[in-house]
Amino acid sequence: MFARHSTHPISTALARVVASALVLCSTAPLAAQAPAEIPTPASVLGFEPGADRKLPTWKQVTDYFMALDKASPRVSVRTLGKTTLGRPFIVAFISDPATLASLPRFQEIQRKLMDPRLRAAGERDRLIADGKLVVLITSSIHSTEVGGILTPLVLAERLAKAETPEARQVLANSIIMLVPSQNPDGVDIVGDHYRKTLGTPEEGNGPPDLYHHYTGHDNNRDWYAFTQLETRYTVDSLYTPWDPQINNDIHQQGSNAGRIFIPPYMDPVEPNIDPILTAGTNSLGSAMSWRMISDGFTGVATNASYDQWSPARQYSLNHRGVRILTETASARLATSMDMPFDRLGPGRGYDAREVTWNYPVLWPGGKWGIGDIVKYQTAASWALLVESARDRQGWLESYAQMGERALGASPPWGKDAWPSAFVIPKAQADTQALQRLVWTLQHGQVEIRETTAPVTAGDKSYPAGSYVVLSKQPFGAYAKALLERQHYPDLHEYPGGPPKRPYDVTAHTLPLLFGVEVAAVAGDAPAAGSIVKPIAEPKFTTALSDARARRVAIFRTTANESMDDGWTRWVFDKYRVPFTQITEKDLAAGSLNGKFDAIVIPDQPPQQLARAIGDAGSAALGAFVEGGGNVLAFNDASLFAIDAMKLPVKNVLEGVKNTDFYAPGSIFGVEVNKSSPLAAGLTTPVPSVWFEDGPAFDITDPAAATAVLSYPASGNALLSGWLLGPQKLNGKAAMVDVKRGRGHVVLYGFRPQYRGQSNATFPLIWAAIGKPAA
Ligand SMILES: [Zn+2]
Repeated sequence: MFARHSTHPISTALARVVASALVLCSTAPLAAQAPAEIPTPASVLGFEPGADRKLPTWKQVTDYFMALDKASPRVSVRTLGKTTLGRPFIVAFISDPATLASLPRFQEIQRKLMDPRLRAAGERDRLIADGKLVVLITSSIHSTEVGGILTPLVLAERLAKAETPEARQVLANSIIMLVPSQNPDGVDIVGDHYRKTLGTPEEGNGPPDLYHHYTGHDNNRDWYAFTQLETRYTVDSLYTPWDPQINNDIHQQGSNAGRIFIPPYMDPVEPNIDPILTAGTNSLGSAMSWRMISDGFTGVATNASYDQWSPARQYSLNHRGVRILTETASARLATSMDMPFDRLGPGRGYDAREVTWNYPVLWPGGKWGIGDIVKYQTAASWALLVESARDRQGWLESYAQMGERALGASPPWGKDAWPSAFVIPKAQADTQALQRLVWTLQHGQVEIRETTAPVTAGDKSYPAGSYVVLSKQPFGAYAKALLERQHYPDLHEYPGGPPKRPYDVTAHTLPLLFGVEVAAVAGDAPAAGSIVKPIAEPKFTTALSDARARRVAIFRTTANESMDDGWTRWVFDKYRVPFTQITEKDLAAGSLNGKFDAIVIPDQPPQQLARAIGDAGSAALGAFVEGGGNVLAFNDASLFAIDAMKLPVKNVLEGVKNTDFYAPGSIFGVEVNKSSPLAAGLTTPVPSVWFEDGPAFDITDPAAATAVLSYPASGNALLSGWLLGPQKLNGKAAMVDVKRGRGHVVLYGFRPQYRGQSNATFPLIWAAIGKPAA
């Protein structure tokens, strides 16, 4: 039923334009009644969006959009593909019928404004006069933020029906691409759990399973690695062809601070983001808060909580679009709660009990429920649409300017010189990682060429025919962000005080993460040929791929599946390494050697693991190792393993204050113990690990344990991101192989499979699982 909509969206829209024109001509006096034909969400859902304790199924959501598509000439729904678990992933294009009938024409205008190389001399002004403001709304990526699945229904209905001058202006000036859920699977995972637990003590709690099969809440940390299908649909079908001027990303935050956050963001700003976009984000966000507060909304916070750093969360800011993140206060899923004023507290950057410039009107406290959430989210989105449509021309002007300066003088902004290019030699130890790097960059619209003469970068020379990324290209700044090392600013709460926590991680250097040699070229840009055609995503392979010779288990706790578990499964599935998912019940059942050769315990707080696994499970794990099994413990899970199996290893960072040591997501250089078989598969040119609040080890019995990787004995291990207190790491082990009986416990003081991105350290996982029997 969805394919029908994806095959002929333009022609059905066109047919509707004609039909609606006929209706208007013949029954003009009755035109006021026409909106009555637009179905209400309640007519499909059976309840009003925002009704207490009611959530829709994904089928109901898509049914409503299909009904709108049928009834309204302003709405055209397309299916972009099937989600990870097989549900339809949809987008609704919303605009004036005449615009919908000419989408290819407006897309061409948009492309020409984006890239000055595509337009003829003198064409610019006409394109700006004719073009539309393209707004992408992405909602409900985080499935427990349940208002996000209802608000799109309300918005779509309003856009389909409204006849006010401001609605007319929005429809006339904008093309809205509304993605009602960036994670349709999660709508049902959370909704089914909610309906099942209604009226029980569990009511209002999220499900124990990840609400995205592989990534859970991390599904919005995928906007440069593109590991997940859902990310790819939005990037491939919406971002890449359109590069919208605005992304409205609808989220929810905690319950006990402001009622809604709207940008400006807090510092820091990723320095490769075009300052026009930072200023545009600040300007539009401020206009939205102004409008909401004028309309009587309270508890509106700006310049709070959320920063503008990691490209993992902000595709648009790296691709010519402002990103308006809104974060509305949560209730208990669709169950309301009481939040008295005296239980409100400080958020980051403001205090919900005090009036400040960025929190100008207090929310008085009281009942808060799904209806309030939908009301705030709808008002914010409406303010965004109205305020941006008002200045369509200004938005298109600045959009064109960004395109021009991406190809103009270097540096396009700032005071520091930019490299003219990055060279990626084709002779690399890990050809799959090389292919992944090229694929990943191309997928983010980066143009890759081949050099036509040898190039010198640093003290090395690279042959003609090497891959090269020129800085002077439409998304050269984005490529630079991913290829260079990050210098995260040293931010503290106050002088001499604790570090100011970043909203997410601080490093995103793909050459280090993937383990690929890349060199920055200073001076003149190297001679390069035409753009290399998009290459295929590599088929990842290890010796364990498609082999059942090693029996692998991946452990999760029943009560709460960790995101690291999801990412671990993703990496194993991507490499087609078979595994069984097990829980504490399987451990407690014992006789593990009869079932498995290796058990992987992904990153999870050690207390959670200890509580779930208990003494019996710990004893069974110990017996498994004694009997020849291997246990792999990632990051904090290693602390559980040390404790549960009394291993001769100590975490030297335990109890260390964050003023003395802090690294919230950085890349550290390590030294490799070449005599360890576990390190034999490492090929990365710069051995390094992804460190995120993890441990570092001292070995207390050198006869029983060996360091596989160690931090340098002196100097600073930091390669990219942020590190306070580098001396704490000096000489400490990053990865330890503990021999016990006939088996091994392998402790990783880092995440070797970090968000599916750290190809450089994947071999450390495969080696510890062991080679398939010959
Ligand atoms: Zn969220």
